[in-house]
Amino acid sequence: MRLRRPDWLPALALVALPALTGAAVLAAWLSRPSDPSAWPFSTRFLAVTAALCAAYAGLLLALHRRSRAALLRTTAELERVRKEDEGSRRRLMAVEERLEILSAYKNVTAVLTSDVGFERILDETLRITADLLGRTRFARDLSRKSVNRAGVEECVEFRQIQRVSDGERFILAVPLTADQETIGAVQVGIPTRGAAGEIVARAEHIERSLSEILGTLALAIKTPDLYTRTITDALTGLFTKRHFITELETHFEAARRHGDALSLIMIDIDHFKKVNDTYGHVTGDIVLKKVASVVKSSIRAYALAFRYGGEEMALIIPRADTSAALAAAERIRKRVEGKRIAGTKKESIAVTISLGIAEFTPNLRGAVDLVGRADAALYQSKDSGRNRSTVWVPAEAAASRG
Ligand code: GH3
Ligand code: MG
Ligand code: MG
Repeated sequence: MRLRRPDWLPALALVALPALTGAAVLAAWLSRPSDPSAWPFSTRFLAVTAALCAAYAGLLLALHRRSRAALLRTTAELERVRKEDEGSRRRLMAVEERLEILSAYKNVTAVLTSDVGFERILDETLRITADLLGRTRFARDLSRKSVNRAGVEECVEFRQIQRVSDGERFILAVPLTADQETIGAVQVGIPTRGAAGEIVARAEHIERSLSEILGTLALAIKTPDLYTRTITDALTGLFTKRHFITELETHFEAARRHGDALSLIMIDIDHFKKVNDTYGHVTGDIVLKKVASVVKSSIRAYALAFRYGGEEMALIIPRADTSAALAAAERIRKRVEGKRIAGTKKESIAVTISLGIAEFTPNLRGAVDLVGRADAALYQSKDSGRNRSTVWVPAEAAASRG
């Protein structure tokens, strides 16, 4: 910003007036006639006029100095304010950047706590990151052939940010690391159009934002993966026993509170030892896996299937009373019975299962007792010849039945 110059015309008039008067006095005195009587001015008058002109010139000089000093001070003050303003602008930008990152953190955390579906969390967290970077185009799978993978392999291998330029774009590849495991990379391409300073500033901003958010992002991607692994049995794909305990407690309490029906079915493969002994453990595993898949595909979406032990499975069926649970058990039993399973040597293997069913009743003290009843019914199925389903009945009712 520059100060406007003072209007020079009045200033010139102010200077010119004493200067011209002084010059006129001096000229008159120099050209005075030799005859003093022909000279109209007294010497005293001239001296006073000259003194007044000199005093006026001195006053003007002092005023000029003062205004010049004031101008310099104002210019210096303006420069200081301008610098301060620039500093505030930078601080404001830094605060804005920080806010954006914090808001992205918040969004990632919200997704993490609201959903455990791996694919959805991956999509959501990557969308949040893309928003943070202000990008519009977004490719998910860096392993695809059509995608430019500049810096990605090195980034994953060395777990370090890679900075590459391919002429058209400046590329950043940043590792996604959680729990000391690098699970992937985020690659960002910044078009190299515009001023060099702007591109560098943008690249630095992106690198800072990514470094801040990536730990959380990697954890967000990894957490559902870990969770799914924790609750899923590797061989059968059914839920684990640990998850069974959690789920049964939850459903048991819900049934107690709301009075909804709840049934539990315990399943055990008949003479499974013999399968192992005859065909070997590898084929035994294949058979177990197949039976589990038949069980899983035979139940409704709201029912849950678990691997309870070696070749034992459990089903939690909410909103099902004994007759609905018995119908489901018989459907599964018949489907397993009708299945022919190919062993490692293409043997055709048939197995049967025994099932025990128990329904929630308000007099049960806890979920463990419900398991006890279903187990007792299962043993009854085994005792009475296997390949059958038995519903638990109280001892006195069983005794009276004879
Ligand atoms: P039944 O239940 O009809 O009384 O006879 P069973 O032969 O099935 O007897 P039991 O249930 O006591 O034995 C289960 C066997 O299942 C013992 C074990 O060798 C086998 N088994 C348990 N887990 C696995 C597994 O993951 N893979 C294989 N191949 N075998 C398993
Ligand atoms: Mg068993
Ligand atoms: Mg068995």
